[in-house]
Amino acid sequence: MLRQLRSFSSTSASLKNLKIGLIPGDGIGREVIPAGKAILENLPSKFGLNFEFVNLDAGFELFQKTGTALPDETVKVLKEECDGALFGAVSSPTTKVAGYSSPIVALRKKMGLYANVRPVKSVEGIGRPVDMVIVRENTEDLYIKEEKTYKAEDGTRVAEAIKRITESATTRIAKMAYDIALKRQSIRGTVQSLHSVPSVTVTHKSNVLSQSDGLFREVCKAVYEANPEEYNGIEYKEQIVDSMVYRMFREPEIFDVVVAPNLYGDILSDGAAALVGSLGVVPSANVGDNFAIGEPCHGSAPDIEGKGISNPIATIRSTALMLEFMGYSEPAAVIYEAVDANLAEDKIKTPDLGGNSSTNEVIEDIVRRLN
Ligand code: ATP
Repeated sequence: MLRQLRSFSSTSASLKNLKIGLIPGDGIGREVIPAGKAILENLPSKFGLNFEFVNLDAGFELFQKTGTALPDETVKVLKEECDGALFGAVSSPTTKVAGYSSPIVALRKKMGLYANVRPVKSVEGIGRPVDMVIVRENTEDLYIKEEKTYKAEDGTRVAEAIKRITESATTRIAKMAYDIALKRQSIRGTVQSLHSVPSVTVTHKSNVLSQSDGLFREVCKAVYEANPEEYNGIEYKEQIVDSMVYRMFREPEIFDVVVAPNLYGDILSDGAAALVGSLGVVPSANVGDNFAIGEPCHGSAPDIEGKGISNPIATIRSTALMLEFMGYSEPAAVIYEAVDANLAEDKIKTPDLGGNSSTNEVIEDIVRRLN
């Protein structure tokens, strides 16, 4: 599970070397990944971290050139050499392309990254306050793709898909959600938050799907109740997914950590991103027991590629998130603060946030605020 929080007060004498895989992918992935690199290279020396980077291939454009979207070498280097990684973006072809499947989906599978973690935080003074994290189970539910189409007796077609929820996958995603709630509480000393008491909201539709979502709900609750000492400070809540959507848009400020099966988590994540203005500020991390890949939520954005105006903030926040899951919460908090300070000043921002600054100007401004 999540590694222990590390304290940096005693590490300044010995430098810790960390190797980070950089996978820019397609389109603006190539413009925003350098932001993550710049942030890591400019972290204050008090943290005692030294970063080495390795550039790795993946993407639809790579597939068009070589017939491979995710080379074995990329996976091998990540598994054998890297401590963490950043993934930029991948273009999605609008029609089915024979032999192609998404490299990030394959990467999640090959690296055992069973959770997709998406924090959504509003910019101070703009819209409703939001400070939530959606923890989406990433390996099962309807997305196992066990589908079939057949003919009914009357000759019309019927399509069916299996929704699989397992006790083991639900147990590990529930634990991750509770651990994230505790970890957020532990860095609240430095990062401002809306929530004085951490809470986890379990999202389900067990009133209709009593077996599958019923199991998800039951296991999440059992994990909470089985660890009374550890999870003592967390408030346990449940919300049926349709009313979750309603409440998330009406009163997003009440949600802290939200845990959901794959499909609901997917939908809630994109809905929550809409609460905070631009896709260009929303980070995510693909997380397993031993590895995390930071990934901005946006796609390859072909409409702005090459203009130098991609917002780097989603990638910068994803870099902090990667560090958090590697156990380095203190430098992560410094990065979040630098981003918040840039957004609060409301001066140096890319056009998606109403400004006229370039990607590089935003990176420079945030680097300047790291301390
Ligand atoms: P893809 O096919 O890769 O998903 P897309 O254009 O359909 O690409 P996104 O890349 O997510 O989907 O972009 C959606 C919209 O948000 C586009 O108008 C894009 O320009 C904008 N956008 C996405 N990311 C950023 C960013 N980092 N900075 C500024 N605007 C962005």
